[in-house]
Amino acid sequence: MRRDIDMDYFEQRLLDRLEEITAGLEAGKKGVAPVELDPSSIGRVSRMDAMQQQAMAQAAARLVSAEKARIQKALDRMKSGDFGYCVHCEEEIPEKRLQFDPSVLFCIACARAAEAS
Ligand SMILES: [Zn+2]
Repeated sequence: MRRDIDMDYFEQRLLDRLEEITAGLEAGKKGVAPVELDPSSIGRVSRMDAMQQQAMAQAAARLVSAEKARIQKALDRMKSGDFGYCVHCEEEIPEKRLQFDPSVLFCIACARAAEAS
């Protein structure tokens, strides 16, 4: 359990972000709904547009649900006292990095290694 960082502060930031994401997901559900194809009223171009918009909405939704899972994991780790330690090498994650994104699970070195592979 880290004593050098303010757990309440980070917990609040995680919960706030989670709330924001959940609200955004609810609002975005409409955009992810399957495209209704009505050939009589919808032209070829607008159909392409609708499909493209749908693909973008789905990609955004995937990113958001990945972030949501990460936040939930960070909150779980907070409960177990593992918050602030790298999931991979168990080194302390610098506070500055947690300030930037409290849901990070890896230290800089492990995040870089994961990106490179
Ligand atoms: Zn690490």
